[in-house]
Amino acid sequence: MRYQVLRPPYCYRWAVLISVVLVTISLIISLSWSGAEGSPVASHPEPGQPIRATSTPPPAPGAPVRTTARQGRFVALTFDDGPDPAYTPKILDLLAQHGAVATFCMVGTQVRRHPELVELVVRRGMRLCDHTVSHDEELPKRNEARISADITGALSDLRLAADGDVPVPYFRAPGGNWSETIIAIASREGMAPLGWSVDSRDWTLPGSPAIVATVRQAVHPGAVILLHDGGGQRRQTVAALAELLPWLVAQGYQFDFPAT
Ligand SMILES: [Zn+2]
Repeated sequence: MRYQVLRPPYCYRWAVLISVVLVTISLIISLSWSGAEGSPVASHPEPGQPIRATSTPPPAPGAPVRTTARQGRFVALTFDDGPDPAYTPKILDLLAQHGAVATFCMVGTQVRRHPELVELVVRRGMRLCDHTVSHDEELPKRNEARISADITGALSDLRLAADGDVPVPYFRAPGGNWSETIIAIASREGMAPLGWSVDSRDWTLPGSPAIVATVRQAVHPGAVILLHDGGGQRRQTVAALAELLPWLVAQGYQFDFPAT
């Protein structure tokens, strides 16, 4: 009699308990499924977002790069014709003092003489640029085999000096004298042809105040600035850089690498 009275409520409680457990299990399963599907979708960036944030519109096919990698108030400093034991280390120290980076367009003959400077440039977080073995400003007039040897020779010199793995993302033609063949060979070797948008004219040795004035007047967001750490007496460039770096920082410029 007592059992008959008590049985229905106990059965009811067990049924409730079992159904609660079943509902909980199915909820856990469904939540874990939606989590597994949802997380990659949630972390996936909006289409196009990273492109807008990090890169500039690509230059016309084959045109040398003349802008910084990032858009905004950035400049890319480039130093040509080194490395040079007298000037390259001084320039690296100035860059470090002002938190700046730069790209060094090196000549193969200089790289062979001073491989330790290539290592130093890389160790300081700078980028390498192939500037041919011989710095032949008549390169566009040479035949394809000669052009190829001059470009790939300097690339090998840089890789040997920097111990192999270091990237060489840019090639700059001596004197900025380009041809379709030069651009095609540089591209084939994985290097972006690198031009400039501001010529400091430091190579004319006009005195450091003139170099400073030229850059101050011509600089603009996205500028790629041509300077020299080798190929002659570069005291004027070093003196000009000591003034230009704090001035650029005061103008709100940050330092970047050229686009690739
Ligand atoms: Zn040069």
